[in-house]
Amino acid sequence: MNKRRFIRSGIAATAAAISLPALAQSSPNVRWRLASSFPKSLDTIYGGAEVLSKRVAAITGGKFQISVHAAGELVPAFGVVDAVQGNSVECAHTASYYFVGKNKAFGFETTLPFGLNQRQQNAWMYYGGGLPLVREFMKEYGIVSFPGGNTGVQMGGWFRKEIKTVQDLKGLKMRIAGLGGEVMTRLGAVPQQIAGGEIYQALEKGTIDAAEWVGPYDDEKLGFNKVAPHYYYPGWWESNSMYSFYVNSKVWDGLPKDYQAAFEAAAAEANIDMMAEYDFKNPPALRRLVGGGTKLHAYPVEMMKAAQNAAFELYEEEASKNPAFRKMYEPWKKFRAEIMLWHRFAESTYSNFVLNNPPGKA
Ligand code: CA
Repeated sequence: MNKRRFIRSGIAATAAAISLPALAQSSPNVRWRLASSFPKSLDTIYGGAEVLSKRVAAITGGKFQISVHAAGELVPAFGVVDAVQGNSVECAHTASYYFVGKNKAFGFETTLPFGLNQRQQNAWMYYGGGLPLVREFMKEYGIVSFPGGNTGVQMGGWFRKEIKTVQDLKGLKMRIAGLGGEVMTRLGAVPQQIAGGEIYQALEKGTIDAAEWVGPYDDEKLGFNKVAPHYYYPGWWESNSMYSFYVNSKVWDGLPKDYQAAFEAAAAEANIDMMAEYDFKNPPALRRLVGGGTKLHAYPVEMMKAAQNAAFELYEEEASKNPAFRKMYEPWKKFRAEIMLWHRFAESTYSNFVLNNPPGKA
């Protein structure tokens, strides 16, 4: 054998020895189950998990399959943290703020009242240190988290009667969950926890005076306009609502690197896709609602100011007694101040101009 042939066959043999087992290992069939916290009827939010599942399968040539299960099918809506932690399912699609009862620090990944908008939340999570902070916090639960969708700024809910001052909130029974509910309590309202499917009846019977859900597209489907004529904006407790994919951290660590990359890319796509879908579906829904007699009202600025002050009082109090909350709150507050300052210039000036000055008018 001459020298060149020897080297060539040597390389070929070495390559075969390395690549064959590596290939066999790197493309295993992987089957995961995803527990969604959402019903199929919330098709835009629920659909975020389907975007992930379809894209992961497409990228991996069908080798990595994730089956999506609606809330209650495998796991109750609010049981997904325990289920992923205990590995009874490999992953979940949820809103972290559902779990503020475990620790208020869960709020940051979705939103806090008077928090960031969708653009700002993405900036905080992907670049501003948010995601590393979230992942550090989630280690305690054995979960790795990925941003997975957003509604943008939500609407401020449906009211049977018009509200004009903070006084009008006293004793008002409103369906509103989480930290938004705690802020409402500080303003004198009485928050009610009611599942989506039961809100309509409660509002119709008058057992509650007001209810918030999501925005025009989702709210219209539940028919709130038929029983409460006053539709307020904005939903200051959900200045964005970021959803999350939770993965059991041991299962994640055992996943081949290229499948991890497929999952990360698909989650990022789902994160953008949901917002785009809402921005497409909300305008015609709002048009139909207003055409059908719904009355739109902005929350009075005085009420917004009182709510914002109550929200930040709540955060300062929580930060003083909850180290996990403080660890996220302090950098979040700094980031919030910085991005609000920047967005006061180009973003808000442009938005205010084009929203209030249609072309063709002097
Ligand atoms: Ca909401």
